[in-house]
Amino acid sequence: MYQKRSFHLEQKNMETYLGLDLGGTKLLIGEMDNSGNILRYKKYDSGYFNQQSALQIIKKSLDDYIQTVGWTNSKPLGMGIGLIGRVDPVNGIWLQIDPKRTQPIHLAQELSNIYEIPCYIDNDVKAATRAERHFGFGRISQNFIYINVGTGIAAGFVVNGKQIRGSHFNAGEVGHTKVGVNIGIQCGCGRMDCVELIASGSGFDQCARLLSKKYKTKLQIPTNEEERIQVKDVYALSQKGDPLCAVLVDNAAQALANLIMNLVRVSDPDTVVLGGGIVSDGYLHTKILEKLNATTVRFVTNGVVITKLNPDFIGLMGAGAVAMQV
Ligand SMILES: [Zn+2]
Repeated sequence: MYQKRSFHLEQKNMETYLGLDLGGTKLLIGEMDNSGNILRYKKYDSGYFNQQSALQIIKKSLDDYIQTVGWTNSKPLGMGIGLIGRVDPVNGIWLQIDPKRTQPIHLAQELSNIYEIPCYIDNDVKAATRAERHFGFGRISQNFIYINVGTGIAAGFVVNGKQIRGSHFNAGEVGHTKVGVNIGIQCGCGRMDCVELIASGSGFDQCARLLSKKYKTKLQIPTNEEERIQVKDVYALSQKGDPLCAVLVDNAAQALANLIMNLVRVSDPDTVVLGGGIVSDGYLHTKILEKLNATTVRFVTNGVVITKLNPDFIGLMGAGAVAMQV
């Protein structure tokens, strides 16, 4: 009897979830326990894809993962996927990557059938917000905004403990708002100078190309426009007083500070959490804090902070949170 019980307990401790974080160019697959500890993972190159080819990429990579990495214990209890674009998490439908790539597919059902593991999906930033809600600042806050500043910019709003999704699962696409920094760049969304064009990874690249005509720089700007400038190089040169890089950093910090102050006025959070490759090293964060107006952020009592979750794995943890359905 005693033996049986301890066996049962051990089994319970070994319950795991599978997460898949599909970014713009890579797919990260990993298994974690219900506290968000990553037990095993493997990274795959995805290349440019549409929704149909993404399904093939996921299947091929997951088959490889099962064969070469394998389960920690037994089959995970659930599988969660973070995807770019619009996702209906209730019906498991991946609606759209962007307006040019719209082929709705019942991804959750397809993968559940193939792997015989319950599968759930969500948008990547909404998934990261779930990770923050369950494993991060959500433990001390019921009203926070998670802002992801990576290749693009988007936010997850948690209000009174609930995540905002909107009428078409499109809430939080705050990258397409103007923030008072005027460069003169046309955005694909139809407007000018969206914050994403100034302070995201792709924004730094576009601004560098445009403003390099006006400011001297030692920054390497690839002639091939498919190849991006390195934002870490911009930060390093900016510290040495490089004229172009100093302007790029100042514009990005001002744009993000204005975005944060605008959003604080919208949902009255007590915490603003920043994540993503552009802010995770803390360099831009210090400059953003200098530009925040004390009155505007007076109720943000926990501060404007960088996520404490590992920036390399927050997307994967988010996918795991989707698998756990939290
Ligand atoms: Zn836009």
